[in-house]
Amino acid sequence: MQKTRIAIVGLGKIARDQHIPSLAASEAFDLVAVASPHHALDGVPSFTSIEALFDAVPDVAAVSLCTTPQVRYHIARLALQNGCHVLLEKPPGVTVSEVQALAGLARRRGVVLFASWHSRFAPGVEPARTWLAERKILQITVTWKEDVRAWHPGQRWIWQAGGLGVFDSGINALSILTRIIPGALVLQSAELSYPSNCQTPIAARLVLADERGASARVEFDFLHAGPPAWSIEVDTDAGRLSLSRGGSDLTLNGAAAGVAQNTEYANVYARFAALLRDRNSDVDSAPLQLVADAFLCGRRVEVEPFKE
Ligand code: NAP
Repeated sequence: MQKTRIAIVGLGKIARDQHIPSLAASEAFDLVAVASPHHALDGVPSFTSIEALFDAVPDVAAVSLCTTPQVRYHIARLALQNGCHVLLEKPPGVTVSEVQALAGLARRRGVVLFASWHSRFAPGVEPARTWLAERKILQITVTWKEDVRAWHPGQRWIWQAGGLGVFDSGINALSILTRIIPGALVLQSAELSYPSNCQTPIAARLVLADERGASARVEFDFLHAGPPAWSIEVDTDAGRLSLSRGGSDLTLNGAAAGVAQNTEYANVYARFAALLRDRNSDVDSAPLQLVADAFLCGRRVEVEPFKE
């Protein structure tokens, strides 16, 4: 099988931690170039912008965009206009309209757009979706809390407009929730806590409702000391489903349901390869839409300034 020539744009934490190792292990992709304003990758042709990359390596077939969200739209447009298939890290844009515009452009250009949600590829997620499809949901509790200083050290873009603040992590929970709960979820209320020196919230509380009226209570917190808490509990007419460790562990009525080892990013790239093979796009903006709705109707509370 001929490998797809792919480039990474944005050589930051997630590119180094996950994308580069996953591509190195992939039989479907060949990492042929990278573009990042201030970083280069040893042994791979490196450029300071996507424009310079396309000038020097015109036969790149796909790009994986691992930049900060605020610059992603411009870069994604350029890549799609250039006839490249595009994988977007989460969130797929800073606004829902950006994502819709990119989906339209990909369609018109006849190329693949994959708005990836890596947490959906955690091993407990698909078994949870299958189990819940047969049950009546009574109540959902989402707890997504971590220490921002430990998990996002020095990432100032998170606190700038479009950086999402605590939703940068919380959107992972929403990406799982919108995958495992049958039907649409609707935001009912939100309370967003903004440090007085930041443009984005450091904590959030949401109430959502599913189509049959069951409510989901959601708590996101970036000032959580100790180990992170990334869990979703769903009470149903057949007992409780719990997903913990970001979707890695699944228990049903307290008993561990054997799920596979966590290979989220290998699965992200396997999915991208399948989309390329079938020439299909996969663009679900439901998690970003819920975040946008929280910003639209959320009650704002001012809290202590954030110090790194
Ligand atoms: P990061 O460490 O701050 O890296 C972001 C990178 O974007 C920087 O290295 C920067 O390159 C690059 N960049 C900025 N403007 C650019 C431009 N115009 N062209 C090319 N590259 C540009 O952030 P991160 O943690 O990797 O997060 C990046 C994205 O991945 C975010 O959307 C985040 O939500 C998502 N994500 C992060 C994690 C995680 O655990 N960190 C997990 C999953 C998903 P230079 O350094 O060269 O300036």
